[in-house]
Amino acid sequence: MAAKWTPESWRSQKGIQMPVYRDQVALASVEAQLGQFPPLVFAGEARNLKADLAKVATGEAFLLQGGDCAESFAEFHPNNIRDTFRVLLQMAVVLTFASKLPVVKVGRMAGQFAKPRSADTETIGGVELPSYRGDNVNDIAFTAESREPDPARMVRAYNQSAATLNLLRAFSTGGYASLDRVHGWMLDFMGRSPWAAKFEAMADQIGQALDFMRACGLDAESVPQLGGTSFYTSHEALLLPFEQALTRQDSITGEWYDTSAHMLWIGDRTRFEGSAHVEYLRGIGNPIGMKCGPSLEPDALLRLLDVLNPSREAGRITLITRYGHDKIEAGLPKLVRAVLREGHPVVWSCDPMHGNVIKAPNGYKTRPFDRILAEVRGFFAVHRAEGSFGGGIHAEMTGQNVTECTGGAIAITDEGLADRYHTHCDPRLNAAQSLELAFLLAEMLNE
Ligand code: PEP
Ligand code: MN
Repeated sequence: MAAKWTPESWRSQKGIQMPVYRDQVALASVEAQLGQFPPLVFAGEARNLKADLAKVATGEAFLLQGGDCAESFAEFHPNNIRDTFRVLLQMAVVLTFASKLPVVKVGRMAGQFAKPRSADTETIGGVELPSYRGDNVNDIAFTAESREPDPARMVRAYNQSAATLNLLRAFSTGGYASLDRVHGWMLDFMGRSPWAAKFEAMADQIGQALDFMRACGLDAESVPQLGGTSFYTSHEALLLPFEQALTRQDSITGEWYDTSAHMLWIGDRTRFEGSAHVEYLRGIGNPIGMKCGPSLEPDALLRLLDVLNPSREAGRITLITRYGHDKIEAGLPKLVRAVLREGHPVVWSCDPMHGNVIKAPNGYKTRPFDRILAEVRGFFAVHRAEGSFGGGIHAEMTGQNVTECTGGAIAITDEGLADRYHTHCDPRLNAAQSLELAFLLAEMLNE
């Protein structure tokens, strides 16, 4: 029998990938301050997302989750938020059309600031300093002062998240995101893109479907779904002092929710049994994700599912697999079989990014587009063969024209990476690569 859960019960478990703050008084003061701040999301919204995800679990909807690897203070700008939101909506329209299913849209946005790292320190030119852990922990600049964890950064991350969420809410319901407009952006974007001819037929078909609906009298005025969209936020629940401070009891149900985002996920490095992160997440009512990499064995997965979702509530758990293009077909089937055998209602989502990181000869961390695509292909092939529903995609992407992942129809070469490599952590798909991925995915869904 598990011990009683409280918002701070994680503190007695094994907590890794979190900073050690030098000034504990300053930390306590920031925690108290955040504890008084308004919630960023409401419990009812998190429950709506859970209900949407329950539909994904049964094959009646598709999940699209995407955004930056790490949001940053430096890239905080309304245009960046707008552009990423816009590309996500364009991808969603393509996927809706191809899958004939509603697409649940979740941003890695408005709170994705804390990063797990493979090493505690980084050495450059013989100088060893603590690793960068995300803008809510320390600064990316390579100086001892910048790399010192500063609790005040959590307040800045909260404020940036609040402003980002405010803009996202305005975009999704204020008329900006009407289906007609999204389709218009797509045509405009494709008109400027040399690879557009490849997907012209599908874009035309979407346009014809919209014309048909309009002729039937269905427009943004008469059908609210055409005039706006629902959009949810998510991030990795890594920096637990922050998450705890935003944990609030819902006045309707009495349950606890993490009000820093609608959905929270546990990373591949912190999802072990007995971890502080598992302990924290088991007690909140939000829908939660769990990254599943090659080291996760089926028995451990089943035990984790029993801890995180003992009542087997549908929509509660999204398993985000991230094997790597060359490992997915051998590794994933055993997890799928175990979950099917035990009857756990989960959403299966594919993160084709984190198992496919390589270092280019010039030192840039990158991800070849072909490998990303190969992992997605492998993911659907496994689910098809096992009789389960591959229901989602989880991507690191941006609406900006960056050069961080190689390949794609407008081929970015190893040498081209240096042109616009802006990420604060892992390489992201740019706008063109993201939309191309959606079209290729659409083709796969119809194979
Ligand atoms: C991430 O999603 O940015 C991440 C660190 O993923 P993972 O935990 O799967 O390595
Ligand atoms: Mn990442």
